[in-house]
Amino acid sequence: MRRISIFGATGSIGQSSYDLIARAGGAEAFETVALTGGRNVALLAQMARQLRAKVAVTAHEDCLGDLREALAGSGVEAAAGQAAITDAARRPADWVMSAIVGNAGLAPSFAALGSGAILALANKESLVSAGKLLLARAGAAGATILPVDSEHSAIFQALHGEDRSALERVIITASGGALRDWPLEKLATATVAEASKHPNWAMGQRITIDSASMFNKAMEVIEAHEFFALTPDQIEVVIHPQSIVHALVGFNDGAVMAHLGAPDMRHAIGYALNWPARKTLPVARLDLAALGGLTFSAPDLARFPALRLCREVMATGGAAGAIFTAAKETALDAFIAGQIGFMDMAGVVESTLSRLTSEIAITDVPSALEQVLQIDHLTRVRTAELAAQMAQRR
Ligand code: NAD
Ligand code: MG
Repeated sequence: MRRISIFGATGSIGQSSYDLIARAGGAEAFETVALTGGRNVALLAQMARQLRAKVAVTAHEDCLGDLREALAGSGVEAAAGQAAITDAARRPADWVMSAIVGNAGLAPSFAALGSGAILALANKESLVSAGKLLLARAGAAGATILPVDSEHSAIFQALHGEDRSALERVIITASGGALRDWPLEKLATATVAEASKHPNWAMGQRITIDSASMFNKAMEVIEAHEFFALTPDQIEVVIHPQSIVHALVGFNDGAVMAHLGAPDMRHAIGYALNWPARKTLPVARLDLAALGGLTFSAPDLARFPALRLCREVMATGGAAGAIFTAAKETALDAFIAGQIGFMDMAGVVESTLSRLTSEIAITDVPSALEQVLQIDHLTRVRTAELAAQMAQRR
């Protein structure tokens, strides 16, 4: 039986992964090695019982008692803490979903590659912060990484069977998020609640706010740069409010291959689960006539400065991606906490990048995961300082 694990099983991507695995036969069809989650131990335990997982891990030590209780008599082992999550990722598996949100997903992504598994990578932070290291690790271990971000899965599928040397460019679509049509002055006043309502996709709160600020798209541009080894000028972003075209690939003969589908992450997850085969998936079928029209427009860099910042990050290379991710996460925390405003997030990230440029050898590619994590830590300290200064000025 195929051995699977899901890291971040209780999240939006994790629950969709669970849903597909349950529909494909659950414990009768898969041997579940590990499932991990956060404070929602009831859901984690329920999933672990259903799939008869070997181990269920909560990120929080103080939740271990509750998890043990919820798993009593099930035969599923319980564990807690970041180290326990990484240990679980070292357990041999054939297919591993990396769907923890943020840089907390880095260590499990790296650990999972060690056993040569297929790594279904939803955690884009792994590629943005440590892309070169991650791909090198996968190569050395003979592991396969399949992108699960919808845009990257779309590019991956559009490139299937094509000669890579004929590839000219990729175009990543962006819905524009919750605040797409807001004027610049109004964006500065956007609240957490307003930024947390995505027009098309049902996702975790952090990525939903990142969609409204376009930090998510900025991360995805860098993710495509790393994963597909594209130069920055080969990657374009276009606003497409309907979220039906997920990405397009342009070739040297002028042909453009587009990937279309309903905005449902179970497509990208299911593609990675069944790869290299395609199997029937429970996603809505497109009715183009009912849709009527698909529209596209250029993004406004003044309203969405994250899209400009990602270009600077790619031009700098080295540790800039790790700094960008950690600074963005810390700025997002400060926005959610009501410390800084919506537009301040980009300002704080930009200031952090210039501060770190004078503090570390930013253009050097980190040589090991430990170094990425050190840079991550230093960045969080600096971003928090800058966010506190900005809060005082408000
Ligand atoms: P989510 O917030 O819904 O779920 C996150 C999961 O990670 C939960 O299981 C949570 O318990 C766990 N987690 C959170 N913090 C943790 C920590 N410090 N240590 C260990 N576990 C922790 O997030 P999501 O929307 O499912 O996104 C997961 C990842 O997938 C992110 O990297 C996101 O960018 C990416 N992604 C998500 C979508 C989507 O549609 N939701 C689409 C593309 C990519
Ligand atoms: Mg995406």
